[in-house]
Amino acid sequence: MRTETVKISDKNRNTRTIRDAVERAGKILRGGGLVAFPTETVYGLGGDALNPESARKIYAAKGRPSDNPLIVHICRWEDLAPLVKEIPETAERLGKAFWPGPLTMILKKSDMVPKETTGGLSTVAVRMPSDRTALSLIRAAGGYVAAPSANISGRPSPTLAKYVEEDLSGRVEMILDGGQACIGLESTIIDLTEETPMILRPGYITEEMLSGILGKVETDKGIMPESSGIAPKAPGMKYRHYAPKADLTIVSGEEEAVVRRINELLMKAEEKGLRSGVIATDATVGRYQATLIKSAGNRQKEEDAARELYRILREFDEEKADVIYSEAFDESGIGQAVMNRLLKAAGHHIEEV
Ligand code: AMP
Ligand code: MG
Repeated sequence: MRTETVKISDKNRNTRTIRDAVERAGKILRGGGLVAFPTETVYGLGGDALNPESARKIYAAKGRPSDNPLIVHICRWEDLAPLVKEIPETAERLGKAFWPGPLTMILKKSDMVPKETTGGLSTVAVRMPSDRTALSLIRAAGGYVAAPSANISGRPSPTLAKYVEEDLSGRVEMILDGGQACIGLESTIIDLTEETPMILRPGYITEEMLSGILGKVETDKGIMPESSGIAPKAPGMKYRHYAPKADLTIVSGEEEAVVRRINELLMKAEEKGLRSGVIATDATVGRYQATLIKSAGNRQKEEDAARELYRILREFDEEKADVIYSEAFDESGIGQAVMNRLLKAAGHHIEEV
């Protein structure tokens, strides 16, 4: 299969060529084909959410275990009701506050949603993204697009179209290239099917923001940094995701101590002839001696690290790093999600100094 890439920006969005391309992409989805598209979180690998064959194709293209359910993307609030048994009041409040946006809600599914899309579960994950290209594509596809992240299973989620091409070229009919994903980490997932709403995956919409709307909110213990032994509730969170090819270690503590310890580790790596990399911040990037040093941005802005993390991990793969040492990030705001993904990428290998 030949993969066509179409570049979309705010400059060309309203041209005839681009509108036609999005219509064509929608037609591919309605016909049971696959299209990768940008969202504000990461790129998605889209198929028709109501077509079991499309779900099977998505799993095959990603090499994803088929017990790992897909998120159904919609573009209008009215399209939610047919997907679910009921819309709880909690969902209404969250929808008003955060949709369109990086929040996925788990609700009880209706018969309209095939079990292939939900990995056999009786619940369905639904999200309305805010990215304009995503919204136009969903509309053109008939309203319901199932989309996991557009990477081969086990690789970092793509935040740029070139990474989608790297992983999925020849496996999807079209890639819509909308530039760099502005958030860079997957959506927050909240389960609304139980008595107390529960966060199954941290993301840009934080626990604080959610409890501001809902009151009491819990976080799945399986995703807490200190409990790597407990099975998480979102089936996908149990897999070793976001794994770079190199061995990744996180070093946490006061800035000076962290810089000193990472430099020590770098010396040891060099003695062994290993190609080493560092994930630093703007303030510390000049203080390391390593083959590959990358800044995740301003330490005071956790959004920077969120946006850059997956790109950095992929670059280390391209550049064939053997070992990577990363500074830890503050857990405030989206920092919690950054540390959640970083810990998974490191196989929970963290050193306190
Ligand atoms: P991705 O599509 O790559 O962002 O991954 C989707 C995530 O949502 C995975 O971790 C899934 O396990 C999780 N998910 C999707 N549907 C459900 C559901 N019905 N219940 C719990 N988790 C879900
Ligand atoms: Mg994924």
